[in-house]
Amino acid sequence: MTTPETSSQLAIHGGARAVETDDRDRELFHWPIVTEEDEQAVLAVLRAGTMSGTDITRQFEREFAQWTGSRFALGYCNGTSSLLAAMWACGVGAGDEIICPSVTYWASCAQALSLGATVNFADIDPQTLCIDPGDIEHRIGPRTKAIMVVHYCGHPADMDEILAIAGRHKIKVIEDVSHAQGARYKGRMCGTMGDVAGVSLMAGKSLAAGEAGMLLTEHREIYERAIALGHYELTGGPSRYATSSAQTHGELARFSGVPIGGHKHRMNQTCAAMGRVQLRYYESRTAEIRRAISRFWNLLAGVPGLRAHRPGWADSHCGGWYYPHGLYCEDELGGLCCERFCEAVRAEGVAMCEAGANVALHTHPVFHEADLFHQGQPTAIAFGQRDVRQSLGSLPISERIERITFGVPWFKHDWLDRIERYAAAYAKVAWAAANGEMS
Ligand SMILES: *Cc1c(COP(=O)(O)O)cnc(C)c1O
Repeated sequence: MTTPETSSQLAIHGGARAVETDDRDRELFHWPIVTEEDEQAVLAVLRAGTMSGTDITRQFEREFAQWTGSRFALGYCNGTSSLLAAMWACGVGAGDEIICPSVTYWASCAQALSLGATVNFADIDPQTLCIDPGDIEHRIGPRTKAIMVVHYCGHPADMDEILAIAGRHKIKVIEDVSHAQGARYKGRMCGTMGDVAGVSLMAGKSLAAGEAGMLLTEHREIYERAIALGHYELTGGPSRYATSSAQTHGELARFSGVPIGGHKHRMNQTCAAMGRVQLRYYESRTAEIRRAISRFWNLLAGVPGLRAHRPGWADSHCGGWYYPHGLYCEDELGGLCCERFCEAVRAEGVAMCEAGANVALHTHPVFHEADLFHQGQPTAIAFGQRDVRQSLGSLPISERIERITFGVPWFKHDWLDRIERYAAAYAKVAWAAANGEMS
């Protein structure tokens, strides 16, 4: 598209902006799409006063399970608690370790501390931005219970490799699907490949139910342990334990009525009601998002320094493409740092072009120093774990995150004329950099 010959003066140097936004741009990015159908569903819950009921959440769970092809779906008040329950249900406890990529939102792993466990952070792969399968196996020790896989920015992690490693060492795989609802890895839906998955459905995510989450699993034992931890209303009486496996029944049924550890994880039914409506339109709306962002990347094909962040495997895609990013190669742009590139693109009128993504977690003081249980020593080492805390310099790709990736527009509509303008802004700056006009 834009070539060195046709590029005009950069906005950051006083030239005209590539993108002038108006009301249609607001619509282009507005999310979630809420119609009268959502409003009526939520109003019905409010009018009936059943916010704390469970009937609509049970329907939402059934529909979610059907959509994903999961055996069990369990609704949560948020994604964070679904991941906490997933960890506990996988046997993560005091003195144990989980392996988690360093570049992710804190809620992929910080819950481990509240179980007395430690996080052993792995590096990310610079192409997928997901956990690097080559940086997992050497981290596995006798107390490693699970690998937390995050399908980051919608991009599926390389599950074949990860599942093979977990299988060899008989440890669990937990999928954090908070960025990748509906994403596919070689034909399989993200959230259905590991032992259990936690999904955020908060208002900013691509599948937005308000403030909610979902746990998915094929395993009755994991499902029942998750219930025991935080769904008191599903235990006891005519409960799901009535049909449970003898194993779990014996261990947990006597705790019926009081959740282990005192957690309450129930979803507010206004969210369940909205989630049900959102789910009905999710595949068609996200298909349009994928067409739009694919169009954006196709327009940028051949532009130096910029690469799409999307899976190369067959039958794979980024679902609702939450938090979309691109891969930055400063070597092709005269060494221009990503930060400066983004500044110039923002000057062209593209507000979402920020360098980096989530900041690497492995050096955060919470994972080094926090003394959650008032033991007089950091929780990360207070239960007899190996000391797997890592300082700066240990995870080189994660630590370079703001040099290797940048934000791109999360288009919700495949509007050619608009998408062309946004692509032109990125191309204009990239060509200028490649031609040495940015130094
Ligand atoms: C949003 C998010 C969560 C937590 O979900 P909440 O619904 O906000 O509690 C967990 N992991 C990742 C990667 C997220 O982005």
